[in-house]
Amino acid sequence: MKKITAAAVIIALMTSLCGCSETNLNSDSLLSVSGSSENSTPENITVSSANPMVITDNEIDSDITIEKGGVLTLNGDIELRGDLYVEGKLEVSESAIIFGDGVIHVVNSFDDIDCKGAVKVKIDAPEPVEIDGVTYVGGILLVNKKYGLPRDFGEDIGDIRPELKNAIEQMRADTGFGMTLREFSGYRSYATQEWWFNYYCETDGYDNAVTYSALPGHSEHQTGLAADITRTELDYADTPEGKWLAANCWKYGCIIRYPEDKVDITGYIYEPWHIRYLGKSTAKLVHDSGLCLEEFLEVDSV
Ligand SMILES: [Zn+2]
Repeated sequence: MKKITAAAVIIALMTSLCGCSETNLNSDSLLSVSGSSENSTPENITVSSANPMVITDNEIDSDITIEKGGVLTLNGDIELRGDLYVEGKLEVSESAIIFGDGVIHVVNSFDDIDCKGAVKVKIDAPEPVEIDGVTYVGGILLVNKKYGLPRDFGEDIGDIRPELKNAIEQMRADTGFGMTLREFSGYRSYATQEWWFNYYCETDGYDNAVTYSALPGHSEHQTGLAADITRTELDYADTPEGKWLAANCWKYGCIIRYPEDKVDITGYIYEPWHIRYLGKSTAKLVHDSGLCLEEFLEVDSV
């Protein structure tokens, strides 16, 4: 594997004869500079809109900033040793395996990453931002026991969002599993949450109720991006449908939001039926990280 440093990029640019605006860096193109790049000091490489870059099978020692409008494509084995700052577009192709102790910093939005390959490095999320009482982290709407929603949020749609609806329909079509949605198992308004929470408190006591029922305004179901699939009982995880859902829903843009081994972090019991839509690229990143959403976004749950 060859190393990529700022010096190597400059030489690659200077020796490029194709005249196109894209810089391709792969093992072959760097053969002539591998000697000099070994001893050079890592510097910052900038990927601008005028200079899209493709890196294939390389070690990256430098920090790289993808500016707004810039595009960096990663292919094959990539050892990331420097940090990668994503303000423009990062494309991780299907063949890519990104590893190493470098960090990918999402500056604005997770939508800036199009991930189809394997990302094994740490991903650093931006700080939470509050807009009209709604919290977003890198464009991801966040709802948990700490971050809630305004009373009227979601009332204008009053249903799960089309992207989640499409994902469930696609999973159904591909598997033949029923994946039914009962009343209130998709979108759940603030008023409905209030009713159920009071009901659980009366029948089971507050201390128990808070472990499985959200305080009003704190249910992810109010986002329209979450759904309880088929049956809200623990043994759903052992059914063929439940097993398939756990193993495959990320391919459709969803995650199991409250995993079995993350109860202490999410504050919720294991819910093998509760999926959250994030979009295909982000769902893959979260799934591959082995983290729950709070860990992935580096936010508190309570
Ligand atoms: Zn749920």
